[in-house]
Amino acid sequence: MSSVPAMRKEQQLAEFLLNMPLCIFCNSFHKSENCDKVVDTVKRIEILFKKELCLVCISHHRSFVCPRTSTICSMCNKMNHHVAICYLKDSKVEKK
Ligand SMILES: [Zn+2]
Ligand SMILES: [Zn+2]
Ligand SMILES: [Zn+2]
Repeated sequence: MSSVPAMRKEQQLAEFLLNMPLCIFCNSFHKSENCDKVVDTVKRIEILFKKELCLVCISHHRSFVCPRTSTICSMCNKMNHHVAICYLKDSKVEKK
C-alpha cells in the first residue's frame, strides 16, 4: 500500500480556489487583469478608488504607501499602476 495520502476532491477544490485569485472588480474567480465583466479601465480605476485599493498592486492600502511602487507594468513597462488598469489595454481593443 502506498503511504502517499490521496488528495481528496474537496482538498483539490480548496487548493484550486486558493490558487485562483478572486477578481476584485466582479468578485469572480479569475485574475483581476483578466476580468471580462469590467473591461473598462476607467471603471476599474473607479472600483479601486471606491474600495480604497492600491492602484499599483491592487492590495488594501493606498497607492502612496505602496511597498511595490517600483513594480513595472508588463503591458507598457511603466510604473505606478497595475497591469489590470493599464491604459494600453484599452488602446489595443478598439471600440466601434
Ligand atoms: Zn472579474
Ligand atoms: Zn500597493
Ligand atoms: Zn501599463
